[in-house]
Amino acid sequence: MTRLLRAIVDTHALRSNLVVVRQRAPGARVMAVVKANAYGHGIVPVALALDGADAFAVARIEEGIALRAAGIRQPILLLEGAFGDAQLAEAAHHDFEVVVHDPTQIEALERWRGPHRFVIWIKIDTGMNRLGFRCEEFARALERVCTLEIAPLEVRVLTHLACADDLESSMTREQVARFRRLTGALGLATSIGNSAGLLPGCAENRGDWVRPGLALYGVSPFPAVPAADFGLIPVMTLQTTVLATRRVPRGETVGYGATWRAERDSQIAILAAGYGDGLPRQLADGTPVLVAGKRVPLVGRVSMDMVAVDVTGVDAVAVGSQAVLWGRELAVEEVAGYAGTIPYELLCGISQRVPVELR
Ligand SMILES: *Cc1c(COP(=O)(O)O)cnc(C)c1O
Repeated sequence: MTRLLRAIVDTHALRSNLVVVRQRAPGARVMAVVKANAYGHGIVPVALALDGADAFAVARIEEGIALRAAGIRQPILLLEGAFGDAQLAEAAHHDFEVVVHDPTQIEALERWRGPHRFVIWIKIDTGMNRLGFRCEEFARALERVCTLEIAPLEVRVLTHLACADDLESSMTREQVARFRRLTGALGLATSIGNSAGLLPGCAENRGDWVRPGLALYGVSPFPAVPAADFGLIPVMTLQTTVLATRRVPRGETVGYGATWRAERDSQIAILAAGYGDGLPRQLADGTPVLVAGKRVPLVGRVSMDMVAVDVTGVDAVAVGSQAVLWGRELAVEEVAGYAGTIPYELLCGISQRVPVELR
């Protein structure tokens, strides 16, 4: 069957990026973050390809269950923990590790009476003000976790960095210092660095476990540093097909709202990709697209199923020609800038109807 649009996922690149992460965080164990359908890449195939990871991390319990159903045996951490008693029982059933970031989760563990003993990660809010116990609340949380009737299998500690993608910011240093001050003497396993925390190679910012997501997908979290500078290889190529070509005379417009007007007689190609596939409608005129290997500008509004590009002067563009919206030759980081967003959002936004093809 001919597929017009597909997300090609390069499993060799995934594995290679895992090697890069290990080199950047020598001695640390790697928890591969595969939440949000592995950032749009397909949670099960990605986890199977990353069988060398020491553990996986997900945001929602359903994601972990999908991994177990696919036969994944590594430890799986629920980054937001279990929500309520029923989820805690489910987490036990599937042998998930849990984050505890809120007193209600400790209360659920205090009520827990099953045979399962959890690996519990206490989350400390060192300044992000999203999830976790404030520094002054941590000692009490730790005490409660350590005195649970059903003793944990192991207690570990983690925190999340707010500004690690900004290499100029002092916030990372402050957060890590707070975390170390609280946990340094406890002898518990720690986890700090996400991709931006671990890639610069600073040992202080990683902890015993690193939690990379974006880097594994071959994408740089730093606006000014291309992924290639770290040796990372983009994993996803979003590839589509020219559905039609048309001559648009000077002065005519293209697409909904007639927002783009041809300033010269133009050759326009219509591609099979739209916001129904996850392409942001915010993509601006001039967003680069590769058509038949050449960079051409997007023109007019993104529709649900289609988008137009100006291929004037590009030879050999015809119905059936292939186009790349992002991938190895066109960084998703760059494309994201044209929608005023970050590569994370473009990758996670890939919709259900886009078939994933493994290479
Ligand atoms: C999503 C997430 C990560 C992974 O972050 P990247 O920037 O993609 O590496 C790590 N830790 C937590 C708690 C997360 O929510």
